[in-house]
Amino acid sequence: MIQAPKGTFDVLPEDAARRELLEEHARKILGAAGYRRIETPTFEATELFERGVGEATDIVRKEMYTFDDGGGRSLTLRPEGTAPICRAYIEHGMHKLPQPVKFWYLGSYYRAEAPQRGRYRQFWQVGAETIGSATPETDAELIVLLADLLEALGVNRTRLALSSLGTPETRAEYRSELVTYLRAHESMLSEEIRTRIDLNPLRAFDATDPGTREVMLGAPKLLDRLAAADAEHLAAVRALLDDAGVEYELDPTLVRGLDYYTRTVFEFSSDALGAQSGVGGGGRYDRLIEQLDGPPTPASGWAAGIERILLAAGEQPLAAELVDLFVALAKPEGARVAFELSREARRAGLHAQQELGSRSLKGQLRHADRIGARYVAIVDDGTSAASGLVSLRNMESGEQRDTAPDNVIPTILRGTGL
Ligand code: ATP
Ligand code: MG
Repeated sequence: MIQAPKGTFDVLPEDAARRELLEEHARKILGAAGYRRIETPTFEATELFERGVGEATDIVRKEMYTFDDGGGRSLTLRPEGTAPICRAYIEHGMHKLPQPVKFWYLGSYYRAEAPQRGRYRQFWQVGAETIGSATPETDAELIVLLADLLEALGVNRTRLALSSLGTPETRAEYRSELVTYLRAHESMLSEEIRTRIDLNPLRAFDATDPGTREVMLGAPKLLDRLAAADAEHLAAVRALLDDAGVEYELDPTLVRGLDYYTRTVFEFSSDALGAQSGVGGGGRYDRLIEQLDGPPTPASGWAAGIERILLAAGEQPLAAELVDLFVALAKPEGARVAFELSREARRAGLHAQQELGSRSLKGQLRHADRIGARYVAIVDDGTSAASGLVSLRNMESGEQRDTAPDNVIPTILRGTGL
């Protein structure tokens, strides 16, 4: 028996409604702040992620689905959305538009990871990017929008961690200080961290083994080494969040997995999630567009995992689907009238279905009840329908009366008279 590949899942109709609701909220909340939807291809040139996400990151080192397209080009299923959006911004010359340009997106992403609850090989993200503004207000706006979205979706027990990574220059200085510190404590570090001291020493803050953790407690912190302008930027973001009443925790150990971040970084997590607690995060990436051969352009953004949002939100009450009209058949001869009537009803804006199952009339009424139909129109046969033999039944009151087919839709739309 063929099954869905490991780490993937089907979104069944009963799961789709909550995803649609999430998308509606995202469209409303982000749209109201001027963010416009963007879609980029599912796969891109591998080089985009190597250069845009960073060779030293977990994503590029071990999580990419990379393949040859048959013509000698290396392509990769997108593991994240920021690099592709920057590629599109550059490719379409969007620096000529009024700045900043604000995007939001929702789509599937791919990472070769060990599957577990909240961690999949194909997963969905909703994200927002503001390209072309260096202001702290941009960062705060993005953070507040994600906070609003999570709140609207009923995501429980969230925490917001905030930090600053400074500029690449301060970071480079700090980095060599950290490397020196790690070298001095090498024997206590895990194998993985030790072999990557030079490649990505910041990653040591993310380590979970006791030895490395103990070493990191005494490690120098980048937050204490920020240049004055970077510290000011962080203070401005904090003041805006304070004014907005968005609570956060300053977390000097917050290291986002992507190399391109500068200054502001943040992450929302939920205690409702267990091990995979990250719900969404992001930050400022002022050097990325330039790194992808675009004009120097400051930018900021975030991405949140849809499956983790839904897990952390728990069961939310959903409005039951409304069926206004079910068209039943008393005799098979009525099929053409039933077909026409249900179509007309839909064109009039009603949710209408017709009998498709060759059930007995009794079975059809039971079915109509099960799907929650407000009205059932019982078509007798095609010849008599035109002369007025449709029985319209109000399922709530149980009232039923014969009427002309033409009268069915107006009666339901008026909501009175039966
Ligand atoms: P983690 O630390 O959990 O691996 P990450 O730092 O790799 O997360 P990001 O690259 O920041 O995650 O992606 C943003 C969000 O996308 C995460 O907060 C998470 O909600 C979601 N996400 C990331 N990877 C996966 C995955 N493999 N399956 C499901 N959701 C994911
Ligand atoms: Mg990850």
